[in-house]
Amino acid sequence: MAIIILDNLSKKYRSGDKYAVDSVGFSLEKGEILALVGESGSGKTTLLRLIAGLEHPDKGSIVLGGNTIVNGNKSLRPNKRNMGMVFQDYALFPHLTIYENVSFGLKGLKKDEAHKRVIETIELTGLEENIKKYPHQLSGGQQQRVALARALAPRPELLLMDEPFSNLDTILRDQVREEVRQIIKTLGITAILVTHDTRDAFATADKIAVMWHGKLLQLDTPNALYNNPNSTYVAELFGKSNNLEAIVEDDGFNTPFGFIERHPNCPFTNKEKVNLFFRAEETALCEAEEPQLCGMVEKCIYLGDHMQLRVCCRRCTECGSADACKSLDSSARILLKSPVKSWKPGDTVRFKLKNFKIKDVNSSQE
Ligand code: ADP
Ligand code: MG
Repeated sequence: MAIIILDNLSKKYRSGDKYAVDSVGFSLEKGEILALVGESGSGKTTLLRLIAGLEHPDKGSIVLGGNTIVNGNKSLRPNKRNMGMVFQDYALFPHLTIYENVSFGLKGLKKDEAHKRVIETIELTGLEENIKKYPHQLSGGQQQRVALARALAPRPELLLMDEPFSNLDTILRDQVREEVRQIIKTLGITAILVTHDTRDAFATADKIAVMWHGKLLQLDTPNALYNNPNSTYVAELFGKSNNLEAIVEDDGFNTPFGFIERHPNCPFTNKEKVNLFFRAEETALCEAEEPQLCGMVEKCIYLGDHMQLRVCCRRCTECGSADACKSLDSSARILLKSPVKSWKPGDTVRFKLKNFKIKDVNSSQE
């Protein structure tokens, strides 16, 4: 069952001329974790605030647990929405102990029940030793867990988190996001977290929604977003990708880097121009004897465990696509992944595509 359903939600701030959130709709199943990703200003926080009830939309509706909480002028007050919120700066009460911070939202429970709930939540978040301390006596990672414990103690139907990892350094961040995912999953709570960092989204979420200028561009599993992005923007957001122009032939594709055998499910017809979409890690270097593509190394970047090569067309006759090159963009550049070795600009590189997707030239442009 869907726990939350957003339908056609839009919000324009009085001072702004554009919609901060523009016709956004999606639903989430119980227990799912959704990451809202997008660059700064794309509308992530506004969407989260609309869901929390801290802003009211100009259009659209929100259904939570089967009840319409926002529609037209109707808007259920934030404190009636059964949602927990973790703010970017944690917003802990500095004058209250950790125990008191966590018990803050439990005013409706009897004293012994509230105590039991605080202890359970504190144990779940590994804060037992800090129960009597004040926020300033804790590290950033611990404060983050207190904020999470405080939001989770009332066992909300929906947990909302705005950039929950942005104040943590890289090493701590990896650890904290795994813990956060584990804790949310243990309680089976549905959660929406906002982040501008796609690694946070990959590490914590079951599904990812990409926002761009207030619009929802794509909502999918991390795997689907990475391997089957519906736009160039989404593809680039999740890592460098290649969009190589090619011409469909009877038995394959002509590209500026050589000929590729036909893809079994290619729906395109002869002489059509298409884009072949692939990521650098979907390429492999080959020996001269194998069927191969070839290009010239223009730039090599050392990345620790591998090298990234920027490769251009050699404008040679070796790859057998010299004629095709004339009708294709022979200034094309692609990125390849190579094991660490001493490449230098001007070297010939022979490679093949292990995997690629065929896209309509028009649909892959923004
Ligand atoms: P994000 O969280 O993705 O960075 P925001 O939701 O904060 O994006 O902002 C979306 C757009 O709305 C931006 O153009 C921003 O400048 C504008 N905006 C955000 N908050 C306000 C506000 N309180 N008043 C006016 N404009 C705002
Ligand atoms: Mg924001």
